Amino acid sequence: MVEKQLHGSGGWIIADITEEQVKSADLGVGKLFIAKIEKLDLEKMKKHFCKNCDSEFDGPAKIHVEEAKNEAISDELILVERGQYTCHKCNSMISEYRVFSKK
Ligand SMILES: [Zn+2]
Repeated sequence: MVEKQLHGSGGWIIADITEEQVKSADLGVGKLFIAKIEKLDLEKMKKHFCKNCDSEFDGPAKIHVEEAKNEAISDELILVERGQYTCHKCNSMISEYRVFSKK
């Protein structure tokens, strides 16, 4: 596990992630992106920053589940859950997440 800053459209989250997740989140532009990693556990998130509040907070962002209905995306892939990490203070979105599973 490594502690990394992960970027989203509405801020960032500092979380413990695996080397595998670092690879998924790295798009080669010098930043890691939250949306490229599957849903983070609350206990893995150490800090979050909300652009709307323009503030950094200790502790995890909130998780807001938008949809969890096992939607088939293709013959091989199922979208299990879709949601957002949101600021614990103002509820604005920090980033989206998606959880997939293979058939
Ligand atoms: Zn906020």
